[in-house]
Amino acid sequence: MEIGAKTRLFAVIGDPVAHSLSPAMHNAAFRALGLDAVYVALRVPATALPAFLAAQAAIGGAGNVTVPHKEAVEGSVARKTDVCKRVGACNTYWTEDGGLVGDNTDVPGVIAALEQLGAGTHKRERWMLVGTGGSARAVAVAAADRGAELYVRSRDSARARTFAQWADSIGADASVAAGPVEVDIAINATPLGLAGHDPLPIDLNHIPGAQRALDLVYAAGETRWVHALRERGIKAADGREMLVQQGAAALERFFPGTTAPKEVMRAAVQRALRVQRGR
Ligand code: NDP
Repeated sequence: MEIGAKTRLFAVIGDPVAHSLSPAMHNAAFRALGLDAVYVALRVPATALPAFLAAQAAIGGAGNVTVPHKEAVEGSVARKTDVCKRVGACNTYWTEDGGLVGDNTDVPGVIAALEQLGAGTHKRERWMLVGTGGSARAVAVAAADRGAELYVRSRDSARARTFAQWADSIGADASVAAGPVEVDIAINATPLGLAGHDPLPIDLNHIPGAQRALDLVYAAGETRWVHALRERGIKAADGREMLVQQGAAALERFFPGTTAPKEVMRAAVQRALRVQRGR
């Protein structure tokens, strides 16, 4: 697709953002769909965020948001979806009637990634959630929507308590996990695994009975936690499927009525990860 005067511009904003795989993933999808659109990554420092968002609303902009701006954007948009409000963070926005609308597609992204692992079949599942940051909040909203029991683990017991109370307030059945807990599913929502030498986010003996695990972190050769889980016979996946699923949901918000080409997006992410690994 030639870039011309009618080409629509989309961006992922963050700081830093140069590592993002979203441009590779979305541009591959735009090409496959024959859309006259281009997707870039823009480093937006926190001080420039209000001006950037005002300009986006004025020109009908749309895009995605990553660390550290998800919470600030949620607080700045003119309107937001119920999911965005409940998570308290926005990862996808677009313009309607001159105002920005915020959404959070990390929630359907987590649910779809868990479904790919075969989770969410019949009974009330028990989820172990490690971490209490932004993506952990999206997992808690997903747990509430799926009617799962949520066990929260943090490096700090007071933080785990505060998080569990908040998760309860948005409809999750949450409690603090201090030691081992029998669960069905374990989810890593910490950055552990980004570096190959990182310790595992949770000792495997602390999740007895777990049959499936989702690592939100992704890496070219998958994460050490994913490898360790599989050695124990646990079905595990790293965060690339969630990346694809949240991106697919975002694309379908940008272009209502369009079905995101997930296979194309998956292949683009794999390629981009291989390129990153080769550097
Ligand atoms: P945040 O920084 O908001 O939260 C991470 C949480 O992890 C913290 O609140 C903290 O919880 C815990 N943590 C932080 N550092 C450490 C550490 N050194 N050891 C153990 N625990 C730690 O990050 P996000 O929630 O936004 O993202 C977490 C990770 O999830 C990211 O690094 C990213 O790789 C991945 N991610 C993947 C996505 C995808 O599409 N696949 C989408 C979003 C995120 P506490 O202090 O309570 O222990």
